[in-house]
Amino acid sequence: MRGSTTPFILTSIQPPVGGSSWRDQAACRTTDPGVFFPDPGDVVGVERARQVCDGCPVATECLSYAVGTNQTEGIWGGTTPGERRRLRQRWLKELREAG
Ligand code: SF4
Repeated sequence: MRGSTTPFILTSIQPPVGGSSWRDQAACRTTDPGVFFPDPGDVVGVERARQVCDGCPVATECLSYAVGTNQTEGIWGGTTPGERRRLRQRWLKELREAG
């Protein structure tokens, strides 16, 4: 059962359906993919990637895909792997509680 404190991103996470057409609108289409895979502890690199994600019109779709498919590397939807791991744990807990 969802409470009123459920973060928006958790309510928006859906299993990946409808292919990956959202990628056509990605702000990172023309960015070097390496930008989104900074070395561990490279906070400047993480911020560089997040700046691209901040202006992305499909950041929610990207993050939902990454959480739903358990992407464990890189910056997706402006989040780090650790942030997504926590989101995924909360999302899966809510799914279990919803029965
Ligand atoms: S949110 Fe970031 S990683 Fe995801 S599609 Fe947009 S720019 Fe690319």
